Amino acid sequence: MVLAAVCLIRFSAKKSAVPSAVVTSGYVPYTLVKQIGGGLLPVEMLLPPGAEPHSFEPSPGSMVAVHNARAFVYVSDALEPWAKDVLGAVGKKTRVVNLSQAVAPSQDPHVWMDFGAVVDMARALEKALSEMDPENASSYEKNLKQFEQEVAVLDMDFARALSSCESREVVHIGHLAFGALAKRYHLSLMALAGTSHDGEHSAQKLIDLTKHIRAKHIQSLFTEEAVSPRLAQTVAAETGAQIFPLYTIEDISKDDFSNGVTYAQLMRRNLDSLQQGLVCKK
Ligand SMILES: [Zn+2]
Repeated sequence: MVLAAVCLIRFSAKKSAVPSAVVTSGYVPYTLVKQIGGGLLPVEMLLPPGAEPHSFEPSPGSMVAVHNARAFVYVSDALEPWAKDVLGAVGKKTRVVNLSQAVAPSQDPHVWMDFGAVVDMARALEKALSEMDPENASSYEKNLKQFEQEVAVLDMDFARALSSCESREVVHIGHLAFGALAKRYHLSLMALAGTSHDGEHSAQKLIDLTKHIRAKHIQSLFTEEAVSPRLAQTVAAETGAQIFPLYTIEDISKDDFSNGVTYAQLMRRNLDSLQQGLVCKK
């Protein structure tokens, strides 16, 4: 496998000596590069749409893409433990950008769920793109400003919309990806699995969550696309709770990927779900 990857890299390096695309690990860096790059840089994503990032295994083709890339942008070794394998394949001209280095260290790898942190990540990305492609630096700076404004509006809308709700209990039939968001807006969060889908199918955890919903008379529960909908449906059938979707952004459906849905659009869907599920005043 390793030998095959090395051969592929050599073959491909001969075929195309000029680094071209910016290659990203998953959707968070992908959508940020799309937005800050503003179409000036071709972008490729290693994680296929529909796959989840924690346990992804890069193919020899991923190694070739990274070897030939102008830059490889990823979130962190904690979110993407497979990135260390990919880093072994970077070419001499490939710039490596680890976005988590721009934010305060955290036990939770889903750092983009905090609006302050995602702006820091976008600033680090803009700096890297501008250094890499100084001719277009003013465009990247302009795109960053626009992103910062979008996030500032989101932050205000979240704070306003979630300030007065009938419930502050977010029961998430998924993994612990929304901790930073819950903390920022003073919501109480219980998730089925830990920060990397571990223990996802724990029957005991499902029973505990079901008991919690009954004890607290919780009317809603939240799901995510990477987890089988049957789990949430089972809990909903037991408790009568209504199901609302949340979007982690680390993985992306094929439709959303084709439509180029942005960070702000996905976070706004999250706000709509939370507002409805927690019955917040409009
Ligand atoms: Zn995750």
